[in-house]
Amino acid sequence: MHPDFRIQMQAQLGAAFADFADALTQPAPVSIRANRHKWTGPAQHDGQVPWCKNGYYLAERPPFTLDPLLHAGAYYVQEASSMSIAHALRQLVDLENPLLALDLAAAPGGKSTLLAGMLSADSLLIANEVIRNRYQALRHNLARWGLPNVAVSQHDPEDFAPLAGSFDLVLVDAPCSGEGLFRKDPDAQKEWSPAQVGFCAARQRRILAQAAALMAPGGVLVYSTCTYNDEENAANAAWLQEVAGLEYAPVNWPSEWGVEERRWGYQFYPHRVRGEGFYVACFRRVGGGRLAVGGGRAVARGGRWAVGSGREVLERWLEDGGDFGFWQNKQGGLWALPRAVEGYFVEAAGVLRRMEPILEMGEIKGGDLIPAGALALSTALAKAIPATALDREQAIRFLRKEDPQLPDAPKGWLAAQYEGHTLGWLKGLGNRVNNYFPKEWRILGRF
Ligand code: SAM
Repeated sequence: MHPDFRIQMQAQLGAAFADFADALTQPAPVSIRANRHKWTGPAQHDGQVPWCKNGYYLAERPPFTLDPLLHAGAYYVQEASSMSIAHALRQLVDLENPLLALDLAAAPGGKSTLLAGMLSADSLLIANEVIRNRYQALRHNLARWGLPNVAVSQHDPEDFAPLAGSFDLVLVDAPCSGEGLFRKDPDAQKEWSPAQVGFCAARQRRILAQAAALMAPGGVLVYSTCTYNDEENAANAAWLQEVAGLEYAPVNWPSEWGVEERRWGYQFYPHRVRGEGFYVACFRRVGGGRLAVGGGRAVARGGRWAVGSGREVLERWLEDGGDFGFWQNKQGGLWALPRAVEGYFVEAAGVLRRMEPILEMGEIKGGDLIPAGALALSTALAKAIPATALDREQAIRFLRKEDPQLPDAPKGWLAAQYEGHTLGWLKGLGNRVNNYFPKEWRILGRF
């Protein structure tokens, strides 16, 4: 343990420091969160995560990469303490209402998938990640999760400034010094230093200032980190109330859960909860005005809503195709978005150049759709689309982008399914079957 980290934690925990230090020598718990829109949950588990009804502990870490259900978006592998956002949201936000929600630092998508699963179907989640390669991982995870009322963007938080006053819910799961993950990732300790803590705290404050301005009146901001120190946590939370003018919103946690209430926010410690170190504090914006940005500019920025015959081709692939609008970029790529959230999307697209709906439909060629990987994974996919069932071995081969041996497969597009969950597209050609699983999503390595 870094000597300065030890001093910091001794000061914070007092007599409990010995228990904390001991917990760091124990293995980290393994947990997953089930996607209720696709799956009922694991047949076997080692208990439920108390603060998240879809969260489950597993007795040991299975080789997740080789589980086709993970690739089908049936669940997400997520550290248990992070799932506590679900409990806070349930207390503070009326999730039945249509909401415009933003996850400002979203990759790889743990909290975005959680949030998407909690929002109503007429709400829109914009999941944003500034770093490009992390943005691709975010897109992939949200495509797998399959909910269509989601858009992904790749922007610096300051690019959102013209959308000030627009968001009912903003999540800032900020880049931090990662003290809470030292047990899972011992290498993270090597990068830790008091100077790095100071650097993270200043960066977080910049992001929080931008986030606070984005909130609509009555909107809720959730600030979280996976660290312990007061500089990144309590001091930034105090600043949100005292300087940014937000109102602190307390959350009730049953005492048996072991969550520790701080002067500002709540701390998860590994010696008190079955999870890693985590911090969360929530705020509400009182007063101010809602600013809506005119949507017309989005059309001028290179996208348009598909119409006419293209629309009929696209609608057939979706269960309630008539409920969707279709977006096309200049290169011919096509996306679908529920009509119920189009207004929100257009409002934001007027400002955010690098944003697209998560439900990529594919491309129309010769009057037919070449379906995208995201369409296969969507909960909106039409049930009438022909499918073929793969066993586990075939499914893994499919995910490695090998062409499966399916001599009896009919001609045309087929949803490749494992235990009833679609993984991607196959195309039957009569004498063979081609695998259309996206190259960038394939499982790599030898098994
Ligand atoms: N919310 C994610 C989840 O649950 O899977 C984890 C987010 S991680 C703690 C913080 C994210 O912030 C990283 O993806 C990182 O790339 C991003 N980030 C880094 N610098 C940033 C900045 N200046 N503004 C916004 N986000 C930033």
